[in-house]
Amino acid sequence: MIKIREKALEKLEYFCLNHLAKYSSQRNFDHGPENRDNVSELSQYISHRILDEVEVLKASYKKFPYPVVEKFIQEVLWRTYWKGWLEMRPKVWQDYNKDLLELKKETKKNYLDAINAQTNVEPFNDWVKELKEKGYLHNHARMWFASIWIFTLNLPWQLGADFFLKHLLDGDAASNTLSWRWVAGLHSQGKHYLATEWNINKFSRKKYKNLKLNETAIAKYETKTYETYPITFDNISNEQSLFLVHNLDFCFPHQHQTQFNYYGVIDFNSVLQKQGYSENVMNFKKNINSELKNLIKEKFNSEIYIDSFENLQKVIQEKNIKQIILPYLSVGYENDFIHTFKKQVNIAYSVRDYDRYCWQFATKGYFKFKEQIPKVLTKFII
Ligand SMILES: Cc1cc2nc3c(=O)[nH]c(=O)nc-3n(C[C@H](O)[C@H](O)[C@H](O)COP(=O)(O)OP(=O)(O)OC[C@H]3O[C@@H](n4cnc5c(N)ncnc54)[C@H](O)[C@@H]3O)c2cc1C
Repeated sequence: MIKIREKALEKLEYFCLNHLAKYSSQRNFDHGPENRDNVSELSQYISHRILDEVEVLKASYKKFPYPVVEKFIQEVLWRTYWKGWLEMRPKVWQDYNKDLLELKKETKKNYLDAINAQTNVEPFNDWVKELKEKGYLHNHARMWFASIWIFTLNLPWQLGADFFLKHLLDGDAASNTLSWRWVAGLHSQGKHYLATEWNINKFSRKKYKNLKLNETAIAKYETKTYETYPITFDNISNEQSLFLVHNLDFCFPHQHQTQFNYYGVIDFNSVLQKQGYSENVMNFKKNINSELKNLIKEKFNSEIYIDSFENLQKVIQEKNIKQIILPYLSVGYENDFIHTFKKQVNIAYSVRDYDRYCWQFATKGYFKFKEQIPKVLTKFII
């Protein structure tokens, strides 16, 4: 069986050789699930760092002159930008989760109709089915979906973001929450994204008629403002240490020389299961975990596998562990779980140089961040 990283590397190579050159002019078209050559479909791998951003950027950069790959490079860096932005404003994630708890107390019919593909907007119903089946939607479809959800179906953005996060194989707290806020007009206050029948027909090459979308809605508004906090990075000690890999940074042990006493895998699936992640997504993550398990066995001859706090405590006692080190967990449910016991156990996050360097530029809008891309490329790619 082809291992997941090999599959991802093959996909990256294939995309760069055959389709990257036309990415900039073709990427906005959603030709449907059977014809996705105009985009890379690498997001499920990049979001779990089965491929990391630096190798994706390098692979594209070495194939063509910069102007040809500029758009692709900018897209890859959107993800980095969203991560840094949310990392400095974790309260956005906390408030989103508080709102979700409230909103989920009462299940409304129009919400159930939406998530069961029973609305009177035909393409929307198709995207719901596609998302549930494939765990993927084209970027433009995500924008149309979110816009219709918020402005035509009049549903709260938080419920839509939750539905996406739990069905997308690339589901990522930062890219997802902030993209939904961007569509609603909450990221850049007053600037929202409105799906139109014309735009959907043009970029899906379909001929939908009479979609009855709200094409004149005004942006959503909130009175809260979010302060920016500096990101703090932990000091790592390797004395009596246990290094735990996880499926949000699959490549970390491949790419970093690590010198710890013990190695193991930490499995967050019970946390995500409680949150109601779809079977598709859970299976994808289980598969990555089992590869990590094999990797740790082969590379470090270890069978340590942590899937609960109790389990972790047992290993700490048995091996007299003084510090646990994890590849950096950014804002999301996995990080929330670690924070529930971070005060009882000495846990440190090991950050990649790429993240530490890039996140400092995510203080404002993407436009400002984009200006720093040449510096990022000089430091990590060229
Ligand atoms: C409402 C909404 C929700 C979204 N939720 C997620 C999410 O949970 N996880 C996620 O990874 N992306 C999310 N995106 C961003 C984007 O849609 C996907 O990253 C992209 O469609 C993935 O497909 P691809 O790999 O073929 O992308 P390509 O077009 O081939 O782009 C290459 C890579 O660049 C990155 N990228 C491209 N566009 C974006 C973007 N707008 N924002 C962030 N990164 C980008 C991805 O890592 C992607 O794999 C969301 C967008 C919207 C509008």
